[in-house]
Amino acid sequence: MINIKELSRTELKDFLVGLGEPAFREKQISQWLLKGACSFDEMSNLSKCLKAKLADCCTIESLAIEREQISADGTRKYLLRCPDGEYVEAVFMAYEYGNSICISTQVGCNMGCTFCASTIGGKRRNLKAWEMLDEFLVVQGAAGAINHLVLMGMGEPFDNYEEVSEFLKRIHDPEGINLSYRNITVSSCGVVPGIERFGDEFPQVNLAISLHEASQKAREELMPIARKYDLGMLMNACREHEKKTGRRVTYEYTLIAGKNDTDENVKALAELLKGQLCHINLIPLNPVVESGMTGSSRGAAKAFADKLGRCGINATVRRELGSDIDAACGQLRKKASDILT
Ligand code: SAH
Repeated sequence: MINIKELSRTELKDFLVGLGEPAFREKQISQWLLKGACSFDEMSNLSKCLKAKLADCCTIESLAIEREQISADGTRKYLLRCPDGEYVEAVFMAYEYGNSICISTQVGCNMGCTFCASTIGGKRRNLKAWEMLDEFLVVQGAAGAINHLVLMGMGEPFDNYEEVSEFLKRIHDPEGINLSYRNITVSSCGVVPGIERFGDEFPQVNLAISLHEASQKAREELMPIARKYDLGMLMNACREHEKKTGRRVTYEYTLIAGKNDTDENVKALAELLKGQLCHINLIPLNPVVESGMTGSSRGAAKAFADKLGRCGINATVRRELGSDIDAACGQLRKKASDILT
């Protein structure tokens, strides 16, 4: 059996032509799948004979909503079940400029950042392009129209480059969802070859880098990936990215009380980012019980931002959304048993 959503539009077209069908059937079927069809039977503009042929050799798999949690601020967290029984989470957020979704790219994560819940237990598998698209479609169906997308949920997008790339092409397809590349942000912990390739292939998509430390030694302690791609290599790749795309890179900086929120840290950051088009998103660390670290207060975060501003670095404190339902950054985790109690 073929999972029909695994096929790209070209593959689907070839497949249908192979069955003796005209090429335009591809568009009809793709439209039905985008509308969330779960059976060939409901595709009313296909002949009875084609419906039967498709049902014989294809399945339509989907992600299913296992649980929806709604935060006091309107943020919604979705626990989604994959066909193989794995779970991922996606978060829906309402902003002044429209609705936004944060999706997962892997089940679990191998990056091992010490402050993040998603990496506890490692990576179980990569998500397929169709599964990421389904995260978008299923959540949109449940929560309302979405016009911004961030790949900042569970997983490291550049540890799953091929599927993420196929997903970006699919969601941007003008004959499909037609989401503008400029409304998409991909966040990486610093996988340098991924950043380089991404800049070449998706120059219009926004890039965010999880920085969290401006000193190599301290960064290595927080983020094992820094041992493989050190700060020098990372900053080179970011400067190259800026040159190549003309777009400013966003840096995420999780503030950990007493660890990376001191005046020394401000100085080191200002030195590191000197002369770069950039923006720093400050996120007071959200609690993850296992990490044993605490976040800086909002007041301390605001002061950190002001000090950076005085050094000529543009920084804002990210609005905290969904913390009452553990939907905030770094709180998504792979084990459904932790959640489904
Ligand atoms: N792997 C990618 C995308 C997922 S993480 C990346 O690292 O960028 C999304 C963001 O949440 C990252 O900036 C990550 O460092 C941050 N984050 C992880 N744990 C956090 C926590 N406990 N509190 C606040 N932010 C956290």
